[in-house]
Amino acid sequence: MLWNVTTAEYLHSGHMACPGCGASLSLRHALKMLGEQTIVVLPACCTSIIVGGQPTTAVSVPLLHVPFATAAACASGVRRALLAQGRQEVTVMAWAGDGGTFDIGLQAISGAAERQEDFLYVCYDNEAYMNTGIQRSSATPPGAWTTTTPAGKELEYEKKDIISIIKAHRQSYLATATIAYPEDFMAKFEKARKLSGFRFLHLLAACPAGWKLDSSASLEVTRLAVETGIFPLLEQNEDNELQLTYVPESYEPLASYFHAQGRYKNLSDEQISFLQGEVQRRNKKFLTGKGRGANPSPLPA
Ligand code: SF4
Repeated sequence: MLWNVTTAEYLHSGHMACPGCGASLSLRHALKMLGEQTIVVLPACCTSIIVGGQPTTAVSVPLLHVPFATAAACASGVRRALLAQGRQEVTVMAWAGDGGTFDIGLQAISGAAERQEDFLYVCYDNEAYMNTGIQRSSATPPGAWTTTTPAGKELEYEKKDIISIIKAHRQSYLATATIAYPEDFMAKFEKARKLSGFRFLHLLAACPAGWKLDSSASLEVTRLAVETGIFPLLEQNEDNELQLTYVPESYEPLASYFHAQGRYKNLSDEQISFLQGEVQRRNKKFLTGKGRGANPSPLPA
C-alpha cells in the first residue's frame, strides 16, 4: 500500500536529537499519522531533550512533560478531562522510552490497561537509559554493552517481554513496529488512531550513541533487527493472538545484526550461537500466523 503522507510537520527541524536518532524520526512520522488533533504526554526520556524545554519547543501539538513514572496515569487524566468537555476528536498519545515503560512506568501502564483507559501508549525502545548516560534497562538485550554493563549484559538476563505483559491485559490494540519499515509503521499508527480503548505500540528505535553505530547506519541496522528475527513485526489479530505483519524472504543470521554494532563487540561466536537459539525459542511463542501480505517463507526453526 502506498501512503499519502501529509507534508505537514509537527516535529520541526532544529530539535535536539543526535544525528541518526531513531526516536526523533519515529516521532516525526507518528505525529504525521496522528495529526494536529493530538496531545502528547511525555515522561522523562530522550524526547524530553529532543523537543526542547520551555519556552522553546520543536513540537507544534500540545505536549505535557510529566514525571517519569506517570505517563500512563497522566494520559488517563488528559483523556478523562477531554471526555468531560465532550471532545472525542483528540488523540491522546503517551510517548515514552524503554526506561519509562519497561521499568519505571510499568505499574501505571498496567493500571491504565486494566481500566481500558482510552489512549495510545507508544514505547520507543532504544534499549537503555540513553539520555542519562546509556545505563542498562530491563529492555537492554543480553550481551549488549552499556555504561553499567561494561562487559555486556549478562546472558542469563533476558530482555523483559513487554509484549506478553501488555497482552495479558486484553487491551484493544497491540503491535510492534519500526520506522525502518515505514508502510507497516504507518498502517499500525493509522489503525491505532481509529480504535478506542487502551492501545500499545512497541517501536524499536536505533540510538547511534548507545548502540555504537555510525549515524548513517541507523535505519539499516534497525532493518537487520527485523530481518534476523530479533525484533519481529507483530500485530494482535481479532482473536487477541499475535501474528507477523512481515516475514523476510529468509532470515539473516543474528551475527550480522550483532557485528553491525559496537555495543556487541564483546560477544564470542559461542555466545552469539546461544543467543540465536534464544531468539528462535522466544519467537515460537509469538508466531501464530503469517500475517498481512506475508510470503510463505518458513518461520525461524
Ligand atoms: S542519545 Fe540516542 S535516543 Fe537520545 S537523542 Fe541521541 S541518538 Fe536519540
